[in-house]
Amino acid sequence: MEASQGTDASMEENRTASKGDTTTAQAVGCPSDTGMAGRAEVCQGCPGRELCSRLVGSADPDQPAIDIRMNACRRKIMVVSGKGGVGKSSVAVNLAISLAAKGLKVGLCDLDICGPSIPTMLKVQDQSVVNTQYGWTPLKSPHGGIKVMSIGLLLDNSSSAVVWRGPRKSEIIKRFLKDTFWGRLDYLLFDTPPGTSDEHLTVVSALKSVHLDGAIVVGTPQRMALDTVRKEVTFCRKMGVRVLGLVENLSGFACPCCEEVTALFGSGGVHRLAEETAIPMLATIPIDTRLSSCEEDGSSIQQEHPTCGAAVAFDSLRKCVQDIVET
Ligand code: ADP
Repeated sequence: MEASQGTDASMEENRTASKGDTTTAQAVGCPSDTGMAGRAEVCQGCPGRELCSRLVGSADPDQPAIDIRMNACRRKIMVVSGKGGVGKSSVAVNLAISLAAKGLKVGLCDLDICGPSIPTMLKVQDQSVVNTQYGWTPLKSPHGGIKVMSIGLLLDNSSSAVVWRGPRKSEIIKRFLKDTFWGRLDYLLFDTPPGTSDEHLTVVSALKSVHLDGAIVVGTPQRMALDTVRKEVTFCRKMGVRVLGLVENLSGFACPCCEEVTALFGSGGVHRLAEETAIPMLATIPIDTRLSSCEEDGSSIQQEHPTCGAAVAFDSLRKCVQDIVET
């Protein structure tokens, strides 16, 4: 007993030492503050690994409640991107709208804590989250009754910034999963922050005992941006998350008058990456100024301009995703 206490103490020392060395911890991507502590690939060979996994595995009192809520959602999909501004939220919102238009019950959980844009895009920004005996009631978008939860809804005003460190972010994410009264859903989509962050690890870890169907990786065709898409694919694979497919956004400019598409930033880069990595290509979405203006107004391009290239691409994205996860 004493020996094992001694071992724990020395491991704790090692762990504290490695946590104290912030530069090293950041450089190796130490996940000690997340649910992946002791289980991530970088933990292989770390002296604190055993203690970390025991601490994580020991008891997350929230887990049973998260499992109950999440088991009521049939399909769970993350939308991810290597960097910001590539259209990840637009893809999440329009996939949700397209699924809801097919009569499915859809939820969208906005975990992009640094830049929550979903409430505006889904026109719920003026509604308030109510805390009831069943939990936080998510807001309902006018587009097919999509249930929405976002950090943006909990801020006093839309210009407030959230400056939260890792553990606090993980806590709010877990509360979104556990305390939101999602009810029974066909699809729950997660709009995640860009890059490879604690937020992803928290969701993956919180969903470890229920099934996370996978991730959709959004990128743009520029050669420099492709490296970030590649990194995101590697990150998903390291987390053990299935990559359902890739989406190339901003793929040429669609003229609103004649619908002719001009390849402003080139096109096809993400397609080549899809071939190289043997990952399905889910959709190619052109730049369309009608998309950004619809999103700013909280209207749907799929309702307003159903025949335009972007709307058609979102619908074909929905079909591909359903084919992949439902078969
Ligand atoms: P991210 O979630 O990756 O940061 P967003 O979806 O918020 O990106 O998109 C960033 C901005 O670009 C938004 O104003 C959005 O309306 C616009 N946008 C995204 N995709 C397109 C597109 N295909 N055509 C025109 N504007 C787009």
